Amino acid sequence: ESASPSNFIRNIIDEHNRGGRFGGKVVTRFPPEPNGYLHIGHAKSICLNFGLAADYGGRCHLRFDDTNPSKEEQEYLDSIIEDVHWLGFDWGEHLYYASNYFDQLYEFAIKLIGDGKAYVDDLSAEEIRAHRGTLTEPGTDSPYRERGVEENLDLFQRMKAGEFADGSRVLRAKIDMAHPNLVMRDPTLYRIRRAVHHRTGDKWCIYPMYDFTHCISDSIEGITHSICTLEFEDNRVLYDWVLDQLDIYHPQQIEFARLNLEFAVMSKRKLLELVKEHYVEGWDDPRMPTIRGMRRRGFTPESLRLFCERIGVGKKESWIDMYWLEKAVRDDLNEKAPRVMGVLDPIKVVITNYPEDQEEIFEAPYFPDNPPAMGYRDVPFCRELFIEREDFMEDPPKKFWRMAPGQEVRLRWAYLVTCDEVVKNDQGEIVELRCTYDPETRGGWAPDDRKVKGTLHWVSARHGLRAPVRLYDRLFSVANPGAFKDRDYKEFLNPESMVLMPQAVVEPSLVGAAPGSRYQFERKGFFCADPVDSAEGVPVFNRIVTLRDSWAK
Ligand code: ATP
Ligand code: MG
Ligand code: MG
Repeated sequence: ESASPSNFIRNIIDEHNRGGRFGGKVVTRFPPEPNGYLHIGHAKSICLNFGLAADYGGRCHLRFDDTNPSKEEQEYLDSIIEDVHWLGFDWGEHLYYASNYFDQLYEFAIKLIGDGKAYVDDLSAEEIRAHRGTLTEPGTDSPYRERGVEENLDLFQRMKAGEFADGSRVLRAKIDMAHPNLVMRDPTLYRIRRAVHHRTGDKWCIYPMYDFTHCISDSIEGITHSICTLEFEDNRVLYDWVLDQLDIYHPQQIEFARLNLEFAVMSKRKLLELVKEHYVEGWDDPRMPTIRGMRRRGFTPESLRLFCERIGVGKKESWIDMYWLEKAVRDDLNEKAPRVMGVLDPIKVVITNYPEDQEEIFEAPYFPDNPPAMGYRDVPFCRELFIEREDFMEDPPKKFWRMAPGQEVRLRWAYLVTCDEVVKNDQGEIVELRCTYDPETRGGWAPDDRKVKGTLHWVSARHGLRAPVRLYDRLFSVANPGAFKDRDYKEFLNPESMVLMPQAVVEPSLVGAAPGSRYQFERKGFFCADPVDSAEGVPVFNRIVTLRDSWAK
């Protein structure tokens, strides 16, 4: 038993362990279908399965549920391996493919047929659906249901041999067409599909269905707890039925509520559509809820794990507020990200009493709360600086502590300055602020202890580095874009989900910002040097998250 917070799954495992079931072992698996990139919902499942295995001293398998041949699978497969590793988990030797079990699955199907528990049905998919009945109406037996064992064996072997057209026949379990659970009304176990499989090539033209494959794969691998999402609750009876009929080792299926995240979509179909139709720039677009997107944006593996731990595991469907994801990355980066200064929307400040040919360097701590922790960097100062345009108001309201005519403010680490003059262009736009500094206030402290409330970030205009900054926000402008009948979720894309700040200027220490490195731009948020678009000495920054929750719902 472990130090992690309890949840209903741990309670079940503890119960099993007390009763000696599975000999006290815990073997879980994460079973992705390699048909897309992993998203934050998958991260929940990964953290849960690998986390349980680690806490109970067991193991977790990575198993590709690759029974559905389709194109581009290798690309997805590679990305899944990389993303699970990036999240911080390792399966060691235990990498498996359901497609490796095709021979065994076929033999198990032969056994079911031999025991009179499965039959070949010639009905079309549509006819099978029509025969299934409804929740209130029992289904109808297929006219092929009473075929003899010999005929079924012969037909199934010929299905495998490629004698029949795609869709012309299926293998079905013979259970009960009046079963109250629709899943149990003679579910399909195999179908004919001439498709090249990325691992088995054209060896097979029949492929096993999920409900047949999954339980047997779990059994073969000695999984103890087969954890899946709630949609599979009804399928558990079938999971158990297959293993019982075959009389093989029997894991326990346990269902939990999937992660639903507000302001995001997570179905692979929708994510694929966003990519294919160029609503986003790719699977790794920093606005995507994919692991790659979040990674590129600047989320840390620790922050995603922290998020998954905090939202917990339950039995009830719920929607998680984006706040929790952002809080997790703030809490993580607050401890790790060096503080620097970057001006996103610059306006020029001229310090009129500071000599043109003078410069000085301030040594500023990367981590002001605990300066020795991360050391110091040089911040150059000169007569011409940039501050944030929104940090100045010509005619400010009360309690505006930032820069205004005649109001003294502190430039972080540098001096106290006062604005004396506002320079405008012909259109009346402010183009420059002319200030004076108090030379007695080096470091930002007045010898007479006079109170100066506002502290602004700034960058030397002479030394600053131009670095485009992208402000990312929620991809959708409503909490649940998929919930509107008659409205397509894409109508709710947030037009301001990415705002480019092309004029942004950052302090020169960032010239060496390694791609993927993360910083707090003081007062502005956490930022990451984009690993794709940054070039040597020319970083491009992504805003990971603002410093405070600024989203009004
Ligand atoms: P999609 O519906 O987007 O296609 P999927 O569930 O079919 O997703 P899989 O590759 O089969 O995708 O998922 C692998 C594992 O991840 C499964 O065990 C599944 O239960 C889990 N999973 C997928 N989405 C979520 C989610 N939103 N929350 C928690 N677990 C999830
Ligand atoms: Mg799927
Ligand atoms: Mg699935």
